[in-house]
Amino acid sequence: MGTPLDTPTEQAEEVIDRLQEEYPEPEISLQFSNRLELLVAVILSAQCTDERVNAETEHLFEKYKSPEDYANADEAELAEDLNSITYFNSKAGYLKNACQQIVEEHDGEVPDTMSELTDLPGVGRKTANVVLQHGHDVTEGVVVDTHVQRLSRRLGITEAKRPENIEDELMSVVDREYWQNFTHWLISHGRDTCTARNPDCSECLLEDICPSSKVQHDVDLADGSEW
Ligand code: SF4
Repeated sequence: MGTPLDTPTEQAEEVIDRLQEEYPEPEISLQFSNRLELLVAVILSAQCTDERVNAETEHLFEKYKSPEDYANADEAELAEDLNSITYFNSKAGYLKNACQQIVEEHDGEVPDTMSELTDLPGVGRKTANVVLQHGHDVTEGVVVDTHVQRLSRRLGITEAKRPENIEDELMSVVDREYWQNFTHWLISHGRDTCTARNPDCSECLLEDICPSSKVQHDVDLADGSEW
């Protein structure tokens, strides 16, 4: 028990097979109805739960409907409108500045390339990947959030530590057709079973192939600490 397959590629394939069966219709949990709302929601979701973001954007999206609305907003008022979100002051600044750039350089449209997106304030590769995948139907990479980072290490699919390096490795071992859903499967499993502090290894459908399983192993490969 708790023995991974021979190669990271085989391990990733087996994880995909099992999680695909468990979660046949994976979905993004952020709520949005257009690309601008998606961009805003993803910027707000850094270090914050999707649930909290959805609760806040419900009223935010009624007040701010266009890039101009954010670009011309009073930054302190915008921050106040986001005040249940972690780092709301910085994020208000990112939203205002990103939307100013969208208005001035992109005719008010959310850009559709990785380089233009990552040029926007507050937008890193993870945010850009989400916007490309769910806003433009373009898959350029694998979204590596905290769940993907934790689970892909725990499961022995990668030993990389930095999100950019983890993404590179995932892109080489996960079949491209699964890049988008791979993130959603790991997020779902990370929320339901393989939680950060107390994973339920004895009930986990990946237990027999997991080198971090508490049932058989002493070390959590997510960070090398002892269980
Ligand atoms: S819940 Fe336990 S067995 Fe399952 S993937 Fe996480 S660490 Fe491995």
